[in-house]
Amino acid sequence: MASVADKEAAMATSSIHRCTCPICRSNRPHHDRIYHHHINVLMSRLSEPQRRWFAAVEAHRIGYGGKRLLAWITGMSPTTILRGCMELESDLTDCPDDHLRASGGGRPTAEDRDLELEVALLNVLAAETAAIPWGVAPKPSEARCGS
Ligand SMILES: [Zn+2]
Repeated sequence: MASVADKEAAMATSSIHRCTCPICRSNRPHHDRIYHHHINVLMSRLSEPQRRWFAAVEAHRIGYGGKRLLAWITGMSPTTILRGCMELESDLTDCPDDHLRASGGGRPTAEDRDLELEVALLNVLAAETAAIPWGVAPKPSEARCGS
């Protein structure tokens, strides 16, 4: 496991935002330095609204002075963090989820890509199945998986 000094040396060479809080500016070894760095590592992978909401959650968890500390840690403006707080307070009702897939999105099913696949699969099953106890075998169009 890397020491705190090793992690701090790696942090200095990264393009990830560097915290400017008093602890991190002091250059004294401190576990909050790693915590602040991890916040910025996470922030580097989030979308802009997600960064705002995460900063708001952390600021709320910290309580008094939280927005100012998160502004130092992340480089975000306190106004942006406040906006995230207000959005969270309203349960993100006015914030669309950009990650929901639009209807019809995604790749086509194997059955749609190969129209003969269903017939081929039913032929394979027919060779392994002695009889269908409830009567008539389903038509290929009725036997689609997941429909
Ligand atoms: Zn810091």
